[in-house]
Amino acid sequence: MRLLFILLLVPSVFFAQQDHTHRLSRVLNFPDIPGYKTLKTDLHQHTVFSDGSVWPDIRVMEALMDGLDVISLTEHLEYQPHQADIPHPDRNRSYKIALEEAKDHDLIIIHGAEVTRKMPPGHNNAVFITDANLLMIKDSLKVFEEANRQGGFVFWNHPHWEAQRKDGVARLEPFHRELIAKKLLHGIEVINDLTISDEALQIALDHNLTIMGTSDVHGLVDWRYGIQKGGHRPITLVFATERKSEAVREALFNKQTVAFFGQTLVGRQNFLNPLLQHSINFKEAAYQGDTHIATLKIINDTGLDFTLLNKSKYTFHNASDLLIVKTGETILQVKTLEKLSEIALQFEVLNGLYAPGKHPTLTWQIKID
Ligand code: ZN
Repeated sequence: MRLLFILLLVPSVFFAQQDHTHRLSRVLNFPDIPGYKTLKTDLHQHTVFSDGSVWPDIRVMEALMDGLDVISLTEHLEYQPHQADIPHPDRNRSYKIALEEAKDHDLIIIHGAEVTRKMPPGHNNAVFITDANLLMIKDSLKVFEEANRQGGFVFWNHPHWEAQRKDGVARLEPFHRELIAKKLLHGIEVINDLTISDEALQIALDHNLTIMGTSDVHGLVDWRYGIQKGGHRPITLVFATERKSEAVREALFNKQTVAFFGQTLVGRQNFLNPLLQHSINFKEAAYQGDTHIATLKIINDTGLDFTLLNKSKYTFHNASDLLIVKTGETILQVKTLEKLSEIALQFEVLNGLYAPGKHPTLTWQIKID
């Protein structure tokens, strides 16, 4: 009986490890970059106070498990399918309950709401607001004005949503152009839930909008994003001077973001490049015996695997020009042709996206013992 138990146990443990990514936990671990703290945020989520399926305290617990720094619960102001069962004339309840739940935890809760309209303007989130009740205005332009009067940061949700864009292509309507011209719309989701939009990214770049990525989760994060299989919800990395609500707001208005989706990081190069540069670290470089082959150890603690295309003048002994840097340690052998005390390696980082189809090429300067 005991032997049978062991025989049954061993293969299941073995397969569980095979099936898994190399990440040690569900928490992603992005490094800070010079001058900024890298904060993990999810600023678009729902609960039973609009069309979600959970109480706000569950959103706080999920965020803590995912190691997030900042969240916002953004209930649809105009779409309230649970209202008969959960009447709540005060549209700030979801925020207040989350705030109460988070008060003994290290999680920043941002007051938000989702303005839910037909296209245009479609759905837009206002975060850093002070009173959601005051956003219950029929005239769309007036809602944006009120959100801005409250100091809100406003972003266009899923501009590529197939329910409002049959072809899945994000396009600006004249009303969006008016909102942007009047500085009433500040950001755009390039990533929403299980989707990513090249066209939304191009709109962000053309119109100077903040690049956003959010889960827009309605059910459980664990089920939606396959956490047990190494999945993760989409988030926005915000580069803030300190880990405080006001610093996050300022960073969002300054477009200091990188959005994360699956294995892809989307952002402007002034933040994306240092993030990638500090996520991939070359250590312990040394020649093997009297060969001219340098052995390098690459350390990656982020939780995602990087795909690098070699653009250096050297070739590798144990890899082709395509190098997968998994979470943990990767050994790379570089043929330097002579003994050198320092080399420069250059890679195109395919996980990074700074414009549609464009990946940053970065250089790492490495000293050899
Ligand atoms: Zn939503």
